[in-house]
Amino acid sequence: RIPDRSRILSKASRVIVTRAETLKPLPPTDDLVFGRHSTDHMMVASFHPKTGWSAPEIKPYGPLSLDPACSCFQYCTSVFEGMKAFAGPDGKPRLFRPNRNMERMTRSAARVALPAFNSDALLELIRLLVMIDSRWVPQAPGCSLYIRPTLIGTRPSLGVAPSDEAMLYVILSPTGPYFRTGSKPVRLLAVGEQVRSWPGGTAGYKLGINYPACFSPQREAAKKGYQQVLWLLGDGTGDSMGMKVTEAGSMNFFVVVKREDEEGVDVITPPLDGTILPGVTRESCITLLRSHSPVSPLHSLDPHTAIRVFETPFTLGDMYKWSSEDRLLEAFGAGTAAVISGVGVVGLDGHPDIEIPEYEGALGPVGKALYDRITDIQEGKVEFGDWSYPC
Ligand code: PMP
Repeated sequence: RIPDRSRILSKASRVIVTRAETLKPLPPTDDLVFGRHSTDHMMVASFHPKTGWSAPEIKPYGPLSLDPACSCFQYCTSVFEGMKAFAGPDGKPRLFRPNRNMERMTRSAARVALPAFNSDALLELIRLLVMIDSRWVPQAPGCSLYIRPTLIGTRPSLGVAPSDEAMLYVILSPTGPYFRTGSKPVRLLAVGEQVRSWPGGTAGYKLGINYPACFSPQREAAKKGYQQVLWLLGDGTGDSMGMKVTEAGSMNFFVVVKREDEEGVDVITPPLDGTILPGVTRESCITLLRSHSPVSPLHSLDPHTAIRVFETPFTLGDMYKWSSEDRLLEAFGAGTAAVISGVGVVGLDGHPDIEIPEYEGALGPVGKALYDRITDIQEGKVEFGDWSYPC
């Protein structure tokens, strides 16, 4: 087990594989609650400024042993990704646009000054880990193997400084639908008094630190019967109606608005201004919607539905206005875990709920077309460039 002193994770071929002696029983498909189960193996590598990255190890899943003064515990140097492996038509695992996750993880690590890593090598290691644990990739429709690459600062010192030591690990978890609402749309509570992002902050990166500020408002929202929070960002005046809509929990947010003067719909999502996460699913939705045309329509959508896509700010007041004019046709969240999740209600304390039209199966025509196309690509039923390929 000689550390690889050359370059950071430069050769995935140097990986040391230790197989678990006993394999865990697979959970039943109806118990695939997001994040509940861990698979048999994990990948771990560590970085030290003197020795570089260690040879990566794939070994039985288990606890990590870390110094209590580690940077990640004290100063939250924690970066992660969320991606999935899907069973293809041949039963073999496939990945969906994993390079986009590797690029985002590289940017996230740089934002909190964690050591750089070779993202091609990391992707190779992820593929190897998924193949080793391939019996955990659920075959049932709507199910997949969630992949959680994580990079933490392990500098064991209380000084407030960048962590020059790090650990990179990957764990896997078989998963079914993210929301337990079945075929019902989710209810979101709009919150603007507490915020999860601000200009120049860290919301454009996938950092652990972005999430705990959401937990208490999320718990309050759950008590009131909402599954997630729709985060607003105001200008400090406290006027809720003028606050910008950002994103919802772990999903980017889209609305479908009927055009005022002509046939067709506008699909609107907030821009990548640093206050929302640049979601892979968001980007995929935009690309797919822009590819919709009478010659190459998106699945269930009327080929002649004219769709314009806008990455532009909108406020909660805009949503109330569109709703009062009966022009707010659909709202949905988009993310790796939630795929495309229909939103039925947006609530705001002290105001009436915004009710979005109900559709069978929770998604309206645009959301459904995106869901069908994205899952078909993920499961290898439909080709779209190099978006999905076998491990
Ligand atoms: N926003 C936030 C805050 C998220 O945590 C996620 C999940 N990664 C998303 C949006 C959706 O991003 P993606 O489509 O890349 O999963």
